[in-house]
Amino acid sequence: MATFGTLSDRLTETFRNLRTKGKLTPADVDGTVREIRRALLDADVALTVVKDFTAKVRERALSDEVNRALNPAQQVVQIVNEELIAILGGEQRRLQFAKNPPTIIMLAGLQGSGKTTFAGKLAKQLEKDGHTPLLIAADLQRPNAVNQLQVVAEQAGAAIYAPEPGNGVGDPVRVARDGVEHARRALHDIVIIDTAGRLGVDAELMKQAADIRAATQPDEVLFVIDAMIGQDAVNTAKAFQEGVDFTGVVLSKLDGDARGGAALSVASVTGRPIIFASTGEGLDDLEPFHPDRMASRILD
Ligand code: GDP
Repeated sequence: MATFGTLSDRLTETFRNLRTKGKLTPADVDGTVREIRRALLDADVALTVVKDFTAKVRERALSDEVNRALNPAQQVVQIVNEELIAILGGEQRRLQFAKNPPTIIMLAGLQGSGKTTFAGKLAKQLEKDGHTPLLIAADLQRPNAVNQLQVVAEQAGAAIYAPEPGNGVGDPVRVARDGVEHARRALHDIVIIDTAGRLGVDAELMKQAADIRAATQPDEVLFVIDAMIGQDAVNTAKAFQEGVDFTGVVLSKLDGDARGGAALSVASVTGRPIIFASTGEGLDDLEPFHPDRMASRILD
């Protein structure tokens, strides 16, 4: 994965300079923290997140807790690594299933973020694990969205509930509610609701998503965000958190040359865990998100 390459290289360079020093002095810490700050900003991590992060690293590096058995570079690497893992959510968070099926998973995010593709990927993975997911086409905004989900469902070998022309068209809340009812009757153990996205955040979109949430009471609301959107990630994530709220994040397009700031920023400002990483256009390009692995990748 090319992601985080820039950040990695910058930090490696910074630590290389430290490695030549015998002992960690306040001046070393300040110099290093300044470099980390620059590297994170260059990686498109939001300024508020960078400030918090570097303040924590500085405080810890100057405290008595540092491990004297390590050389200065190793000490800072250890602290930065632990703080990165903390920001990225700590432990790996898995998808939560309902005690009484069906588990209802709702997707939200901007248009083009990768929701529909992710719906297919998740359905395929769940099928492989023995589940019987039903995809619900509640994105009635884009003329082609229902078709697109139909194609993805077919590729994934998953069932789909889509509005018949003239029956519920134009009312995504009703389609979502009817779809969930259909899943109960047809004994699907998981429901994945694809919702409409707009090019930018807007109040109507948020209300529609909030209404779908209220009508279907999902166990998981997954916010899908394109890792390439850089600095915009924070505002978009905040808007969706306020407008719909979500239980977890799907970071898509991590295969591109995103600089990775979105992952750190979104997890940090929303406090919601990243659950999946989407890494390509193919339906098999989906991985569980591991905070510790992502942190190591940043530091490698
Ligand atoms: P939606 O509007 O949120 O439903 O987004 P789509 O699922 O239609 O995805 C928008 C575009 O991004 C499509 O061309 C997808 O093939 C592409 N896409 C989705 N996920 C990924 C990914 O993880 N990596 C790459 N490279 N492309 C992706």
